[in-house]
Amino acid sequence: MQVAQAGRLSNVRYDIRGPVLRRARQLEAAGHEIIKLNLGNPAPFGLEAPPDVLSEVVKHIGDSQGYSDARGIYSARHAVAQAFERSGVAGIGPDDVFLGNGVSELIVMSLQALLDTGDEVLVPSPDYPLWTGAINLCGGRAVHYRCDEQQDWQPDLEHVASRISQRTRALVIINPNNPTGAVYSRQTMLGLLDLARRHNLLVLTDEIYDQICYDGAVHYPAAALAPDLLVLTLGGLSKTYRLAGFRSGWLVVSGPREHAADYLDGLELLANMRLCPNVPAQHAIEPALGGRVGISHLLQPGGRLRDQRDHAWQRLTAIPGVSCVLPAGALYLFPRLDPDLYRIDDDEQMMIDLLDQQHLLLSHGSGFNLPTTDHLRLVFLAPVPVLDDAIGRLATFLAGYQR
Ligand code: PLP
Repeated sequence: MQVAQAGRLSNVRYDIRGPVLRRARQLEAAGHEIIKLNLGNPAPFGLEAPPDVLSEVVKHIGDSQGYSDARGIYSARHAVAQAFERSGVAGIGPDDVFLGNGVSELIVMSLQALLDTGDEVLVPSPDYPLWTGAINLCGGRAVHYRCDEQQDWQPDLEHVASRISQRTRALVIINPNNPTGAVYSRQTMLGLLDLARRHNLLVLTDEIYDQICYDGAVHYPAAALAPDLLVLTLGGLSKTYRLAGFRSGWLVVSGPREHAADYLDGLELLANMRLCPNVPAQHAIEPALGGRVGISHLLQPGGRLRDQRDHAWQRLTAIPGVSCVLPAGALYLFPRLDPDLYRIDDDEQMMIDLLDQQHLLLSHGSGFNLPTTDHLRLVFLAPVPVLDDAIGRLATFLAGYQR
């Protein structure tokens, strides 16, 4: 008898880890070395958490043998609540915090607790595709709103408004954004939040890159700008604190919640059903958020991330027909390949061709739910010589891809 996958998966895509990655694995198995700039995973590029965070985890390993409170250990939830207070979100306590095995788990839980079949959620295009995949997994419908490349990838508020229907339940904001690197202006944020206010939408805001801003760009936390709205803010240790493998994130509930007691009970039910998040990793949260591990030294001029961003951007935009908004935040460049110069019918196939010809692994733009095939995403976590090598290979490849 055939074992088939559940019908509910038929609509679920996560192409950024699909056929392109499978091809990379095949090439590696055949003995080829691949340059991988496809994943926002800091540690393999030598960007590691400071030793004192790790030593705290080691110190507590003996206390981590049992299940914790389903929402996570108190000290870590307290540390998250305090960090929110510091960022201008008033009235947050440990009971408003759910810890999870990465933001990924919390994204799925927050949607599972919310969506009935056919319910709609507004999601940016391009997006971090787990959001769209998880909405579909829960029987909902991801309705994409346009982010405007001409306006540094800020969401197009008129388009967002035009996508709202009777079925819309929630608005997803990803700020700073993956894959575009946009950091939303205060005005954009106020516009988005006003739409949520007027249409009674739950705000789901993914702020995992909140500390990763360049050139003085300012991140405005949604929860601080809209204390009158129910906001679920997601963040974690994977990026700023370079601990992606720890699988440790948080979800913070802010704003009025009397009207949402039923939903929050559902969220708690799901938290209980998975018993608790991984306990050892929770012990990294307090020392990390306690200020002992900043990331600002990597973001300032002379800092690795800032230099790598600038270098990669300069090299990329020197390739004929390649333009790119300089990212104000996060870890990615999302360049556009001029369709007049490059004929790209299938950008996923183009990434496979790039792998085959140049042994370079990048991600195709349509994998981020962009409706066109003219973008790709490059992670700039690698040191400058690796970026040089990679972008040189991309330039050679693209020269052969011109019309
Ligand atoms: N949200 C965004 C916008 C991301 O870019 C990522 C990872 O790249 C995640 C969530 C997943 O984070 P975590 O490692 O905490 O599951």
